Amino acid sequence: MRIVQQRSVISLQIMSIIFSLMATSSLFSETKLQELSIIEQQIVDSVDLSFAAEVKFLEKIVNINSGTRNKKGVKAVADVFMNEFSQLGFNNQWLEMPADMDRAGHLLSEQTFGSDTHNNKGKKLLLMGHIDTVFPTDSPFQTFTRTDELDGHKVLGPGITDMKDGDTVILYALKALINGGYIKQGTISIFFTGDEESAGKPISISRGELIKVAKRSDLALNFESGSPDKAVVGRRGSSNWKLTVSGKRAHSSIIFSENVGAGAIFETSRILNEFYQTVRGEHGLTFNPGVISGGTFVSEAEDGATFESFGKTNVVAQKVIVKGGLRFLNEDQKERARIKMREIVNNNRPLTQAIIEFEDSYTAMTATVENYAAMAKLSDVGIALGMPELTAYDPTKRGAADISFVAPYVTSLDALGAWGGNGHTPNEWLDLRTLNLSTKRAAVYLYRLLNE
Ligand SMILES: [Zn+2]
Repeated sequence: MRIVQQRSVISLQIMSIIFSLMATSSLFSETKLQELSIIEQQIVDSVDLSFAAEVKFLEKIVNINSGTRNKKGVKAVADVFMNEFSQLGFNNQWLEMPADMDRAGHLLSEQTFGSDTHNNKGKKLLLMGHIDTVFPTDSPFQTFTRTDELDGHKVLGPGITDMKDGDTVILYALKALINGGYIKQGTISIFFTGDEESAGKPISISRGELIKVAKRSDLALNFESGSPDKAVVGRRGSSNWKLTVSGKRAHSSIIFSENVGAGAIFETSRILNEFYQTVRGEHGLTFNPGVISGGTFVSEAEDGATFESFGKTNVVAQKVIVKGGLRFLNEDQKERARIKMREIVNNNRPLTQAIIEFEDSYTAMTATVENYAAMAKLSDVGIALGMPELTAYDPTKRGAADISFVAPYVTSLDALGAWGGNGHTPNEWLDLRTLNLSTKRAAVYLYRLLNE
């Protein structure tokens, strides 16, 4: 008993020494991480030195129209980047999409650093962007334009903040790091999609290569438009559903009878009402019936969004089609909702039938502990550069993006780009000072990640 007690006293003393050492060292490293080292300051200085060239480069690519459907324009922007990346020692691949998909393709550029041929040292980073915009060739909004606002730092242009800025941040952060010889190990894969604004279908093909690269990466960083104090660690996923209900066509005077039953429209009302009453409520889960068409006959046009129905007040409805969407925080939540919806759909009123079909669209980017940890490291770099601490955007308020496709396979972080506003409108603008800040932040962050 005494011996045991003595031992525990000793171990307590040792423990308290260890804890105080840990506290000192973590305090020390924290302070250190929120300041720049001498090398990091050199990296930041070289970003500043090439900043005028960086703005010129952004102007050049903004002035190339690359609306998603302008395949030549998207490829032309990719060519500009391929030229730059190959000068930095990257191997480029232009990934063509099948002709019937009607999308330009994607750019994949890769390089492994250091003498390590077995490729097992250093992190594997996936840096993501997209080179298409929402502005077609006939849009009046085509050029990079300077303004007097924000002391002349406000510039307008199509895709200037969504996301030719982010693509440029990646390039100039890498220029600073590689030209200065600061990367000694690790692998960098750059993946720029050419159809983010309207992803080619099927997704399994248009995002197949991206997912393959994600599976062999340790961390995926997407450079969509950012904010001084916010990053994206989670985004909701989305899927579609289609409900088809049929009933027995008969004279309305005998509805509810044993031989006729309730009809398709009453059955559809039951289903939708039960969705509302019993599936609704979980945090982060929403579902929306977007279109409904019912009667004796219903036809759906090829676009999947236009319907024609015919029915009479004295005929029991034979058919109803409802199409809707479903948004969720993670795959479990999606599955739970689908199970409940199927149960409701299967519990039919007399002489009616209903089927519900689900179609996957974007997977959810689940806000994992690892994603938060990646954000905390980026936050430290931002603080060292005089920026505020980063907190996460509410995932329920974030729509789907390309990062959503890779998030199930790799730690992911989004919103590393510069910031401005009015994306997807003819007033899209960027604050050039934030292009500078984001490039510095990205360069130091990548340096730290690759030297961990
Ligand atoms: Zn975008």
